[in-house]
Parts: sequence; structure tokens; C-alpha cells
Amino acid sequence: MTDTRPDDIAANLDAVRARIAHAARDCHRAADEIRLVAVSKTKPVALVAAALDAGQLDFGENYLQDALAKIDALAARQPVWHFIGDIQSNKTRDIAAHFAWAHAVDRFKIARRLSDQRPDGMAPLNICIQVNVDDEDSKSGIAADALPALAAQIAELPNLRLRGLMTIPTYSDDYDSQRRPFATLRELMEGLNADGHRLDTLSIGMSADLEAAIAEGATHVRVGTDIFGARG
Ligand SMILES: *Cc1c(COP(=O)(O)O)cnc(C)c1O
Repeated sequence: MTDTRPDDIAANLDAVRARIAHAARDCHRAADEIRLVAVSKTKPVALVAAALDAGQLDFGENYLQDALAKIDALAARQPVWHFIGDIQSNKTRDIAAHFAWAHAVDRFKIARRLSDQRPDGMAPLNICIQVNVDDEDSKSGIAADALPALAAQIAELPNLRLRGLMTIPTYSDDYDSQRRPFATLRELMEGLNADGHRLDTLSIGMSADLEAAIAEGATHVRVGTDIFGARG
């Protein structure tokens, strides 16, 4: 496969947007309820700039040092940065200072540090709790039975805004199998809202399974490969 070039990005984004619109139509949702987060991890700033030129505003990153260089280079253009990877304690200060969202929070200790370190004058950091719904072996994500307690604790933190839930299911290429863990996550969010939370975000769906995610209520799909090409 040849490397993706800046000239390819607008067409790739159009194709992904068309998939989102098609999937939304199939389940009678409005396409503008679904936000595309373009996952630019490991990709050069020139490709992110090309996506901005093509009207893309939201970008997802996993590797902090790599992300900070791009955030700095593109600051004048004011993209919305989403930290979508696991967060270690020594990363919280920079994430709190430079990102609008953190999608993969699964421990109270990390949430409390993000709240404590959110700089004065910035809007609250938007938070999704990562839940492990189908993969016993994965180290990332909180178990469903521990979710209500963590959500209650995070909701109390002053400089965070608990927005919703995120999951990364075990890979499957079968549509019905893709939907099942996303349905579980949607039901967990509905349960929290029935208990008084006001969550409005389901961060689910990547290049291979965004249609299944949209059918189960995705509000944020995180797409890397189909926009920026395969990663090395
Ligand atoms: C890399 C990554 C993505 C994007 O995956 P693609 O298959 O390249 O679309 C989405 N979410 C998370 C958490 C990721 O780490």
C-alpha cells in the first residue's frame, strides 16, 4: 500500500462522511448527530493540515509527545483535540492543558488529576469512561459492574464534564457481532441516565465497524485508517 498524501485526504474524508450519512439514514438518525473524530496518531502534521483544509475539525491522538507537536504547530487553526488513548499519571498535566476531550478514562485517580490540573479559565474537560464490555483479557476499561460507582465519583469533579461512555470491542468482521458490545454500552449509558446522570455521548466505532456503532447510537466515531492510511 502506498503512503497517503495530503492530496488524498479530502477524498478519503468525503468517503468516510458518506459512510456515516448512509449508516445514519439506514437507522433513521440525522447524520449531524454523529461527530467524526479523525484519528491522526503517528501521522504527520501535513496530513492533519490537509484534513483541516477539507473542513475536518475534530482530531484524536493517543501518543502525547507526538500529539503536542501537532497541537503546537496547528494552534492558530484551533482544531478540537481528543485524547483517545490510555492515560498514565505522568501524562495528565499536559492532557488537561491541551485537550478538549479524554475518551478513555477508567480510573478515579486519573480523573481527579485531570480535574485538579485543568487550567483556570478553560472549559471543563469532557470525559468518557472506557468500559470493558466483552474482553476479559483486556487491561483497559472498567468492568460494567464497577461503572456506576466510578461515574458517580467523576460526576463530582469540578473541572470535568462527564459526557458518556467509550469502548473498544474485540475485533470482528461480522456486523451482528460488532453491534452486540455497542448495544451493551448503550444500555449501560441508559442505565446511568435512569439513575440521574445526563450523559449524551457514545464514543464507539472505528474504520472497520462505524456502521454497527451508528446503528447502536454512536455520537462520536473515531476513524484513523480510512482517512489517513494504514499505520506502520
Ligand atoms: C487507533 C484508534 C482508533 C482508529 O482506528 P482505525 O481502525 O485506524 O480507524 C480509534 N480509537 C482508538 C482508541 C484508537 O486507538
